[in-house]
Amino acid sequence: MKSVGINGYGTIGKRVADAVDCQDDMKIVGVTKRTPDFEAKMAVEKGFDLYISAPEREGLFKDAGIEISGTIDELYDQLDIIVDCTPGGIGAKNRDNIYQKQGLKAIFEGGEKHEAIGKSFNSFSNFEDALGADYIRVVSCNTTGLCRTLKPIDDLAGVKKVRAVMVRRGADPGQIKSGPINAIVPNPPTVPSHHGPDVQTVMYGLDITTMALLVPTTIMHQHNLMVELEKDVSVDDVIDKLENTSRVLLLEAEKGMDSTASVMEFARDLGRPRGDLFEIAVWKESLNIVDQELFYMQAIHQESDVVPENVDAIRAMLELESDPAKSIAKTNENMGILG
Ligand code: NAD
Repeated sequence: MKSVGINGYGTIGKRVADAVDCQDDMKIVGVTKRTPDFEAKMAVEKGFDLYISAPEREGLFKDAGIEISGTIDELYDQLDIIVDCTPGGIGAKNRDNIYQKQGLKAIFEGGEKHEAIGKSFNSFSNFEDALGADYIRVVSCNTTGLCRTLKPIDDLAGVKKVRAVMVRRGADPGQIKSGPINAIVPNPPTVPSHHGPDVQTVMYGLDITTMALLVPTTIMHQHNLMVELEKDVSVDDVIDKLENTSRVLLLEAEKGMDSTASVMEFARDLGRPRGDLFEIAVWKESLNIVDQELFYMQAIHQESDVVPENVDAIRAMLELESDPAKSIAKTNENMGILG
């Protein structure tokens, strides 16, 4: 049983903690918080040992009546690996200032730059490259969504060229300081957006160019893809491939899944913690092939799609499993992931 710590128990950190906690080959030894808020209180109530990432704030936790197990310095020695879920840019500094000195393996999230960490990860695209690695970065929620469907399509028909337009949520549901609240924002206004190059950090050599917009919604991202194929396959071949692809769901608008709102309602009806949808939802009706070019639309639950990838990354880096399919299947089963 390997020991895992979470630095930064926020949107991603608390989900990764729960996902690790339900595996049988790894366990959470401690999670860290900077602020004695409701998330800190609930982490302790769930049974996680809570460590303070800013030791000078110990008094605040005492005043709030939140029981702590120590400061972050007391956590490192107990760990085989740490998952750094702090806001973008902090993880790379933690690697340089702390984890390297501690000789501690670490996973970083999509807010870190690929160049700063040196190796990026997606369970389906390059699992083998993370075997035994000391540091890797799980690619962002959008990049994970792109890889989840592009990899099986590449396996089926060979991808010649991808063009994708991403419609991105303006903020996560719990955030009040981001936007827009009444505008559509080219984000960035230049082309390409960073998403295409990010996909290339795990799907090496893929010809992909992306554009992105920010819109006033919090629940999901939405992607529109145009994929030139090497081989002449039918829409039914693509449907069959995606129906048999793990962590991808084909949903039908005509059965009521006609927007990101109904997709998230479906996710809540699944009864999962926080109403998360770890799978990428592809609208079945959107799949079409014109002149050997595949078109489709998909939705991404940004708060949760990267979570199973973090579990697989732990397994690869600690060499608990060398076969990606076996790790993916194990993670899926323990997290109740469909397909
Ligand atoms: P968040 O703000 O929800 O959580 C970050 C947590 O880290 C908070 O608990 C915060 O208090 C804590 N923190 C802040 N500074 C810290 C420090 N110096 N040391 C230790 N802890 C600190 O952020 P998030 O959305 O969970 O994002 C975390 C990472 O995951 C980022 O790299 C982000 O880009 C990436 N990511 C986010 C999403 C998303 O949609 N939210 C999706 C995929 C990847």
